[in-house]
Amino acid sequence: MMITLKKDATKRQVDAIVKKIHELGFAPHAQHGKELTVIGVIGENAVRTKDIFEAMDGVEVVTAISKPYKLVSREFHKENTVIELKNGLQIGGRQVVVMAGPCSVDTKERLLATAEAVKAAGAQVLRGGAFKPRTSPYAFQGHGEKALKFLADARKQTGLPVITEVMNVNDVKLVEEYADIIQVGARNVQNFDLLKAVGKAKKPVLLKRGLATSIQELLMSAEYIMTNGNYDVMLCERGIRTFETSTRFTLDLNAVPVMRHLSHLPIIVDPSHGVGIREYIPALARAAVAAGADGLLIEVHPKPEEALSDGPQSLLPDQFARMMLELRGIAASIGRAL
Ligand code: PEP
Ligand code: MN
Repeated sequence: MMITLKKDATKRQVDAIVKKIHELGFAPHAQHGKELTVIGVIGENAVRTKDIFEAMDGVEVVTAISKPYKLVSREFHKENTVIELKNGLQIGGRQVVVMAGPCSVDTKERLLATAEAVKAAGAQVLRGGAFKPRTSPYAFQGHGEKALKFLADARKQTGLPVITEVMNVNDVKLVEEYADIIQVGARNVQNFDLLKAVGKAKKPVLLKRGLATSIQELLMSAEYIMTNGNYDVMLCERGIRTFETSTRFTLDLNAVPVMRHLSHLPIIVDPSHGVGIREYIPALARAAVAAGADGLLIEVHPKPEEALSDGPQSLLPDQFARMMLELRGIAASIGRAL
């Protein structure tokens, strides 16, 4: 349920409304725009208290949000959310933000070289896995904290903020310390304890859609993060399982306009995992930008044959640079920068 305040609502009136929300056992979620105009009232059966709030001073109107996700919904927040990183980079605005780098961080030298290369081509965020969710327990599992330190070194050298995945509630504090964006991977999209934990973190979260997760389920997972206090959430389409076997997954670009309609959160597309084959990635990246994605997540490695994971879907730095040139033209044609 959401309470729309009168334009001239006083601080005393707003305080009284917030107090009442607490008294009734619900959580208030105020939207901090230029003016405070909407307060979300979140909790089971909150809508049953509609009449109480409608009668309060300073209230313009009280509206039920029909969806099973509330704070994530466009009903709650009309404008697109723009997330600002510590270095001032905005995600969800006019600029399409490209996050690129290796699937797994391997050596420091390679990471630094990759970071320099993707930066030169126009990437604005460096990606790199330290904790890797691997289907086989015998596959490389990530260099852990050592990799986080390399990412911090690469940030220092290049100025690029970094995104890296957290797999485990116990590692959230550690990853939060190093990362500018915390990634929750496809396999953890419904790890509700992890979602609650990153909801309490003070860094933006990129939440990936699961291999067999509906858009509505993804949005409810994002709600877990927001309702725990972290409003800086990005939704990431990374391909789903279908009957098709000629590609690794099927990138569901339907998700871009659908999520744009249903939610105000920034939308990121990961064509690297979505198709899983190097030569097809630029075409899908172009399509994602054309469909209106706010950002892309792309795997790049200077020696893919030696990569510790996802070599076959990693672009070489020069392929990445060429793709970026093409993307720029597409972005410009729909009034966006890249
Ligand atoms: C990754 O980004 O390297 C990754 C493991 O992604 P996903 O969770 O989408 O498989
Ligand atoms: Mn990968």
